[in-house]
Amino acid sequence: MNYANIFTSDTVNGTGFRTSLFVSGCSKNPPCKGCWSPEARQFNYGNTFTVKNKEAIIESLDKPYVSGLSILGGEPMDNLGDRVLLDLVKTVKQRLTSKTIFCWSGYTFEDLIKNPIKLDFLQYIDMLRDGEFIEELKDITQYLSGSKNQRMVNVQESLKLNKTILY
Ligand code: SF4
Repeated sequence: MNYANIFTSDTVNGTGFRTSLFVSGCSKNPPCKGCWSPEARQFNYGNTFTVKNKEAIIESLDKPYVSGLSILGGEPMDNLGDRVLLDLVKTVKQRLTSKTIFCWSGYTFEDLIKNPIKLDFLQYIDMLRDGEFIEELKDITQYLSGSKNQRMVNVQESLKLNKTILY
């Protein structure tokens, strides 16, 4: 897996101070109109995500003032084939139990849970910002911005109750 950026002490992508990982690559074809990171749609964009990157992320999260990890893209859900992301979220939840994990996806929660690999990954996610970005519904005033159709899904509650619950 490649990544485009890693930000620490990020206050834009979720609650509190967070570490944000922007993975490279998105399979949406055609892409969302107005895609905000067209260069990061290429799977070979940026750098290879290494064990060093993983350990640096864990270290950045292991501070009392850091709330958790945010995973954005590109499209994280198109980056699960090599299990690098799965290994990262598993490690975060095993080693740093109080930290939340937020993930952004252009797919809906209902579509994602139909796929066993994506469902497995979702077992470690607290909040999923889901749905395609629709330029006509763009709303820069809403929390986490994006477009009005996109939701914040409480993944753990939704999986437990077998229906979509908002975060
Ligand atoms: S899902 Fe994200 S990266 Fe992919 S085309 Fe849409 S906005 Fe761009």
